[in-house]
Amino acid sequence: MTRLFQSIGNLKGVGAKRQAVYAKLGILTPYDLLYYLPRDYRDYRDPVPVSETEDGVPAVVRAEIVSKRKPIYARGGLQIYGLEAVDADGTPLSIRFFNTPYTYQAMQVGESYTMYGKISVKGGVHEIHVPTVLKDSDIPIEAIYPQTTGLTSAMVRTNIKACLDMMDEAPFETLPPDIRAKYSLMPLPRAMHAIHQPENLEETAEARRRLAFEEMLRLQLGLHLLAERAARETDYPMEPSTDLLPFYESLPFSLTDAQQRAIEEITEDLCSGAPMNRLLQGDVGSGKTAVAAAACYFTAQNGLQSVLMAPTEILAGQHYQTLREFLDPIGVRVVLLTGSVKGKEKKAVYAEIADGTAQVIVGTHAVFQKAVEYAKLGLVITDEQHRFGVAQRAALAEKGGVPHKLVMSATPIPRTLALLMYGDLQVSILDTKPLGRLPIKTYAVAGKKLRPRVIRFMIGELQAGRQAYIVCPAIDEGDSELKAVTAYAEEMRRGLLAGWRIDILHGQMTAQEKDDAMRRFRDHESDVLICTTVVEVGVDVPNATVMLIEDAERFGLSQLHQLRGRVGRSGYQSHCILMTEHLTDEARERLRLMSSTSDGFELAQKDLELRGPGDFFGNMQHGLPPMKLASLTDSRMLHDVQEATEEILAKDPQLKKDEHHALYTDIVRLFAQQGENGLN
Ligand code: ADP
Ligand code: MG
Repeated sequence: MTRLFQSIGNLKGVGAKRQAVYAKLGILTPYDLLYYLPRDYRDYRDPVPVSETEDGVPAVVRAEIVSKRKPIYARGGLQIYGLEAVDADGTPLSIRFFNTPYTYQAMQVGESYTMYGKISVKGGVHEIHVPTVLKDSDIPIEAIYPQTTGLTSAMVRTNIKACLDMMDEAPFETLPPDIRAKYSLMPLPRAMHAIHQPENLEETAEARRRLAFEEMLRLQLGLHLLAERAARETDYPMEPSTDLLPFYESLPFSLTDAQQRAIEEITEDLCSGAPMNRLLQGDVGSGKTAVAAAACYFTAQNGLQSVLMAPTEILAGQHYQTLREFLDPIGVRVVLLTGSVKGKEKKAVYAEIADGTAQVIVGTHAVFQKAVEYAKLGLVITDEQHRFGVAQRAALAEKGGVPHKLVMSATPIPRTLALLMYGDLQVSILDTKPLGRLPIKTYAVAGKKLRPRVIRFMIGELQAGRQAYIVCPAIDEGDSELKAVTAYAEEMRRGLLAGWRIDILHGQMTAQEKDDAMRRFRDHESDVLICTTVVEVGVDVPNATVMLIEDAERFGLSQLHQLRGRVGRSGYQSHCILMTEHLTDEARERLRLMSSTSDGFELAQKDLELRGPGDFFGNMQHGLPPMKLASLTDSRMLHDVQEATEEILAKDPQLKKDEHHALYTDIVRLFAQQGENGLN
C-alpha cells in the first residue's frame, strides 16, 4: 500500500489538532483528502479594470506600484501599511494592509502585481484591503475549499499539495484501463491535479466528469453487489391458494383498484419461489399501510412471520395500532418492538418472536438487533425506507433464511433516481387515492401580519370539530427545539388560540412523551398539535384538516409535500397554509409550485432540478452514500455508467480481479461508512 492510505497524521504539516478536524470531515488518509473537493476557483488570469470594481465586492485586479506610504500607527494599536498603485487603464488604486507588514514589505515600486481582495470605493477612490497577492511561482488558478472551524482554504491547499506529490511518486488508479479508454476518462492522478491545481478550467471540467463517473459507478456496482449477494431462491415460498377474504372483510373500507393491484403483485411474488424484492411507491395518503397489512396477513396464513419496520417510534406505534385493528380480530398476533420496550416486557416480546407466537412484529430498527431471534421470518417490510441505511437493510435480511422484502416509500422518486437507487427492485405504484378525497387547498401567505387571520380561519375548522397541525417556526441558532416549540405554544395558548387544547411534539421529547402526545391527538383529546418536522413522515390522523407551516421557505418541495400529506386523509376539505416572511426568488418559485400541484412525482422532479441532487439526497436521508459530484439529472452519464457496470460485472461478477481491486475497496468502504450513519 502506498502512503496515500496511511494516516493523514503522517502528512507533513498535519498535527494532532488538524488531524482531528479532518477526522470530523471523514478524512482519515491523504487519499480521502484528495477527494475533498474545491467549492470554487479564483482565476488570477483575468483581472478586472479597477474602474469596474464595485464597493464591497472582492475582485481580482492587477496594478503597478507607484509609491509606498510610511506605516501609520493609529490609536488602539492598529498599524496601517499603505501602497499606491495604478492599473493598465491608469485608474489609481490604494492598497491597505493592517497589522501585518510582510506583503507590504515584499512589494516593490515599479513592479506590477495581480491580487485579490475586497474593494472599497469611497468618493470615487478605489481601495483594496488585505489582498492576497499572487507570487510568480503560484499557479494562476487557485482552488477554494469549504471553510470549517480550524481549517482554512490555504491549509487545505498546502496539505493537498503534499498528497498530490505522494500520488505523483506512486501513481494510483481506480478505474480499469478499458473503461477509462472507452468513456474517455482521464487518469486519476491527472484528474486530481486538474481539480486541485488547475492550469485551465476546461481540464478541470473534464476531471470532474471523471470523478463524477467514478462516483456513480461505485454506487451502481455497490448496489449490484448487494443484489448479487441476495439469493435467487427464497426459503419461504408461499401458497397461491392462501385466502385473503377474511382480511378484506375485516377492513373498515373497500380497497382502491390500485391497492388491489399492488396486493396481487405482491402475493404473486411471495408465491413465485424467488425472494421478493419490491418497492411499493405511493404518494402520501394513498393507503400503503393497508397493502402492507394484506401482505402480513398472507404471510401469517402461510405460517410465517412478518416484520414491519418504521423509521421513528411514533410511526412504529401508529402502524402497530393500525395493524392490530386490522389483524387482531381475524386472529393474527401483532407485537411492538422499539427501543423503549424494555425489561420484562422486552423479554416477553423476544420470547414470542423466538417461538413464533408473534406473527407480525412492528418496530423501529430495534427489530434487527442481534439479540432478536425469529422463528420463521418470511417477510420484511420497511416503511419510508430511504431512512434506513443500506447496511441496516442488509442486516435485517440476514435474520435467518432469505425472506421476502417489500419497501414502501412515500417520497416519490424521480425516474432517474429510482433507477440508480433501486436498480434491482420491482415496483408497484399506488397511483390513486381512496375515493372521496378532496384535493388539499394550498395557500402561500407572505407576511406574519396575516397570522391572526390565518389562525381565525383555523379556529373555524376547530369549531367544526376538526384538528390542526402547526409546524413551528425555524429555530434560532443556539436555541433548542424544546424551547422553540414550548415558547411558540405558550404564545398561542395565551394569545390567538386561547381556550383550545394545544399539545406539542418535538424531537427532544422521550419516546413515551411523543407517543402520548400522538395518542392524544389521534383520540381528539387535543385540537392543535404544535410540532417540528417529526410529524413529517407517515403520521395519520384523518380528522386533521389544517396544516399550517411557519417559515415555509426553509423547506424543500419534497418535505413540504410530505408535511402537507398529513392532512387530506378523510372526506373533509383540507387546507395547507405556507407562512413566510423572507422570500427569495427560489423560495417563491417553490411555494408557487406547491400551490399549483399536488403530484408528488412532479414536485420531486422539480425539487431535484431546483436544488440539485445534494440537497435532494440530503433531505431524503435515503441511506445511500452521498453523491458529491454526479448529477442525477445527467441521464447521459447515468446511461454510460449503467453500461460500464454491466461490462465490468460480466467480466468479474464479484470484483475479485486485480484490475478491480481499488474500485472494490472503495465500494466496501463507502457502503460501510453508510452503515454507521445511514440510520436516522
Ligand atoms: P400512506 O400511503 O401515506 O402510508 P396510509 O396507509 O396512512 O397512507 O393511509 C391513509 C389513510 O387512508 C388512513 O387513514 C387509511 O386508513 C385510509 N385508507 C387507506 N386505504 C383506504 C381505502 N381504500 N379507502 C378509504 N380509506 C383508506
Ligand atoms: Mg405511511
